[in-house]
Amino acid sequence: MAHNGKMPASLARLADVHLDKIQFLEIEYNEWDGARNPWSYWAWLRPGWSLDGERHCIHEPTVKKFMIMWRQVRPCECEQCVEAILEGEAKA
Ligand SMILES: [Zn+2]
Repeated sequence: MAHNGKMPASLARLADVHLDKIQFLEIEYNEWDGARNPWSYWAWLRPGWSLDGERHCIHEPTVKKFMIMWRQVRPCECEQCVEAILEGEAKA
C-alpha cells in the first residue's frame, strides 16, 4: 500500500497509549522493502523495555510486522536500561 510517508494512525495511537514504553516513533524512507513500499517504521523504547534484553528499538517495513515485534516487548533489566533509569532518577 503506497502512502506519502505519514505515520500510520494505528502506530500513532499505539505510541499515545504506551507513552510509558515508547520514547518516540519515526518513519524512514529507505526502500528497504523495495520501491513498492519504501517506508519503514521505527519505535525507540524507553529505558526498562526491550525485545530480548538486547534490542531496544523496533524497526520494521510494515505495520503488520511492527505489531508482531511490539508483542515481544518485555521489561528489561540490562545494564544499559538500569543505568539510564538511575540517571533519569538522579536528574528528576
Ligand atoms: Zn535494556
